[in-house]
Amino acid sequence: MAIDSIEALGSIMELSDEERAWDPEGPSTLPVLISDHIASLLAIPQIRRQFVPTAAENEDTACSLDPQEEAKHQGTGRLVHRYSRRAAFLTTDRCFAYCRHCFRRRFSGSLAGPADEDEIRQAAEYIASHPLISEVLLTGGDMFTLSDSHIDMMLSVFRSVCPSVILRLCTRAAAVCPERFTPQLMGIIRKHKDGAPMYLMTQFNHPEELTPDALSAVAAFVDMGIPAMNQSVLLRGVNDDEETLISLCSRLLMNRIKPYYLFQGDPVRGTAHLRVDIERGLEIERNIRRALSGLAMPQYTADLPEGGGKVILTHQYLRGKAPGTDGRYIFDTPDGGTRYYPE
Ligand SMILES: *Cc1c(COP(=O)(O)O)cnc(C)c1O
Ligand code: SF4
Repeated sequence: MAIDSIEALGSIMELSDEERAWDPEGPSTLPVLISDHIASLLAIPQIRRQFVPTAAENEDTACSLDPQEEAKHQGTGRLVHRYSRRAAFLTTDRCFAYCRHCFRRRFSGSLAGPADEDEIRQAAEYIASHPLISEVLLTGGDMFTLSDSHIDMMLSVFRSVCPSVILRLCTRAAAVCPERFTPQLMGIIRKHKDGAPMYLMTQFNHPEELTPDALSAVAAFVDMGIPAMNQSVLLRGVNDDEETLISLCSRLLMNRIKPYYLFQGDPVRGTAHLRVDIERGLEIERNIRRALSGLAMPQYTADLPEGGGKVILTHQYLRGKAPGTDGRYIFDTPDGGTRYYPE
């Protein structure tokens, strides 16, 4: 049984003062929910920190609940259309476990519930009437909290109304509820996988989340021809050191999961204690880039406030044109040296 209150958690394990002092009525609005799979991993501090709330959430009242202003970029009620060629469909507000760093706090666990067939059809028709849109993110919440029949219906609607659109299946379930991927569910995915490509978008933030069950859940998709990409969030006290990220990214790649993004934590209310300073983030990015192959390296990315969009964060290797020369460019090398590059 999933744990859905701090009291229930306190009855099965010892809580710290900081954890016990978390106020469920506080300003950050995200309920406690911990899946069985995550409950079995709570002895690992970097996992506990992602799912067990602390009083620090209540103290952070400064930021917005919706820094990306997604609510302002709605194509339909549940479709966020912020970029011309792709859109995000909020399938449901539910997740198997709520991450304390969740950036979609205005929505996750808000009781909006699953999208019904009309809402799904409306979104699919909106997409069909905007032929520039070539990719749709099925996100939330977590689409795999929907029942098998609901997922089947949703994929049928998207495949019939906008058949040429790439579907990104965005989920944290492989990490937090790998048992969800039953043979029955995988049969439904298989039924809809042909045609425009599907991609599985996972979220693993720490190497200890790569349990054998989690990895076999992802492998079932990859074996079926659905590539897997991972989006991590850079989190203070979880993965804000080079060694952890190098291990995470190498193991992801070894398991056929391409590290895609490493997100700077969004300035969402209640998450200040989990954010890493961008200067330190840039230093980490530079150091792990030296260690990792191009395939294993994620893009460190910030999603700018007020709907500004995503931007890549990386060290500025090109310093400009060398003064007093014949117009050569001057570069930093990854190891901190300098090179001139002919015009
Ligand atoms: C992040 C995001 C996307 C996808 O962006 P990519 O850079 O293509 O991964 C699409 N829509 C919204 C609203 C997003 O936030
Ligand atoms: S799984 Fe995603 S939407 Fe759900 S709480 Fe975690 S970050 Fe938020």
